[in-house]
Amino acid sequence: MTDKQIKNIVIIGGGTAGWMAAAALSKIMGRSNIKIYLVESEAIGTVGVGEATIPQIALFNDLLGINENEFMAKTQATFKLGIEFKDWSAKGDSYIHPFGGYGVDMEGIHFHHFWLRLKSVMGNIPPLSDFCLQAYGAARNKFTRPMDVPRSPLSKIHYAFQFDAGLYAKFLRELSEKNGVTRTEGRVTNVVQDGATGHITSVTLEDGTDIKGDFFIDCTGFIGLLISKTLGVGYDDWSEHLPVNRAVAIACRQADDPIPYTRATARDAGWQWRIPLQHRLGNGYVYCDRFLTPEQAEADLRETLEGEPLAPAKHLKFTTGIRDKVWHKNCLALGLSAGFMEPLESTSIHLIQTGLSRLMSNFPDMDFDNSVIDYYNERTRNEYIRVRDFLVLHYKASTRDDTPFWRHVQSLPVSDKLAQKMDVFKSTGRVFREDNELFNETSWLAVMHGQKLEPKSYHPVVHVLSDAEIKQRLEEIRATVINSEKVMPRHIDYINEHCKAESER
Ligand code: FAD
Repeated sequence: MTDKQIKNIVIIGGGTAGWMAAAALSKIMGRSNIKIYLVESEAIGTVGVGEATIPQIALFNDLLGINENEFMAKTQATFKLGIEFKDWSAKGDSYIHPFGGYGVDMEGIHFHHFWLRLKSVMGNIPPLSDFCLQAYGAARNKFTRPMDVPRSPLSKIHYAFQFDAGLYAKFLRELSEKNGVTRTEGRVTNVVQDGATGHITSVTLEDGTDIKGDFFIDCTGFIGLLISKTLGVGYDDWSEHLPVNRAVAIACRQADDPIPYTRATARDAGWQWRIPLQHRLGNGYVYCDRFLTPEQAEADLRETLEGEPLAPAKHLKFTTGIRDKVWHKNCLALGLSAGFMEPLESTSIHLIQTGLSRLMSNFPDMDFDNSVIDYYNERTRNEYIRVRDFLVLHYKASTRDDTPFWRHVQSLPVSDKLAQKMDVFKSTGRVFREDNELFNETSWLAVMHGQKLEPKSYHPVVHVLSDAEIKQRLEEIRATVINSEKVMPRHIDYINEHCKAESER
């Protein structure tokens, strides 16, 4: 058994994917006899974006034993309670996709059915977001970690982070090196394969250094140096579903206190992100170059900057999609080399995390059993497809038709699963989560409702409560949300109190 064991893992690339892989594997395998090497090239650099996350990242940080306040201080992070979508359903509209649920399920039925019932009876009632502390608190620039208040929404706060990706990679590098990872600086110029199996056996750097390995993790970003350039694995292009293919990013100074959410504002040929960190404001315009030139995109972005730019504009080009196989032979692709689905719901870093967790469950030996590899690839593809459908929903459910881009995205095909989800919601108000997919019922509801898909009816079991009872319960729940928000500190005050380095307090 033991002679089949993998002894040397080589990670190529030191962006977020490379250092997340190094940190996780060294933490888990640090005491085994497996050696971990990471090669990165400062001359090539990293993609330099990727600042917004979703709550599951806390599990990753926990696995690494990271102290959250130290992490926040070292990465200049802010808290994130959700994403605001502005001008998406129609110009002038806005809604928050919160990380926490709406109201309280009653009689085994999701809360929003009772809200729909009351709305159908009374017409004008408070918005659904008034029943969600995360959405209500975020909109008022408030934040707290969960508090020990039984049965209160304050005890159920889910949050993520907005951080400086470069500082996060640096932070993970420190942890990884402490756990025994050997880092080598240099550009890989040659990849050597076994003549018989085609497996990668070593990489050669510009200065002639050879690094041998048994298992290679390709974290080289869009280029896919190992998985694509060397092993020739193709790419499943999803532009037909998600046509945006470029971005321009400019970080600027922050005029106001950072808010605890990311903003995604729909624009003429795509959408614009606004990600507030402690030390700067991240901005970027994600667009489709069939409808906008890079020069115009940059000009449009500059027009909206709220402070002095801190660096030149960074232009990026990508194709949405996924590798035909993210694991092939003895090489696994993670991060952008595995695929990319645009940053609308901040899912890419999460997909690195799940890729790593799936790797641990299916960790190979030197046989590289194809059944394990096939299973891994199938699970990964399913996960990506579910996320893709959720992203497509944002475009498909928009009523905007004011530019060629918005008319184009509404004519795009949707998967049968997505069409079914939208149909079920429109006719019955029901939302469902399948196969443990990333986005849960709250997320589907937030976006379908936020994009103004109007359900024709609601769950019939709401009638177990009289309309008067529903009204009373909703008033109580809303009052609890409003009172809870009052005890939440301002986001910046919370950061200053808990998440600054001693020297900065
Ligand atoms: P990279 O950061 O590109 O790193 C590649 C590494 O490989 C670098 O270290 C490079 O030096 C090295 N390398 C390449 N070739 C060689 C070679 N020949 N020799 C040696 N080293 C080499 N994700 C989110 O979760 N949230 C977001 O808000 C978000 N926003 C995004 C916005 C945009 C516009 C884009 C394009 C992506 C965004 N992402 C986001 C995705 C996120 O940026 C990536 O998932 C994440 O940064 C991981 O990138 P990476 O490590 O795979 O690649």
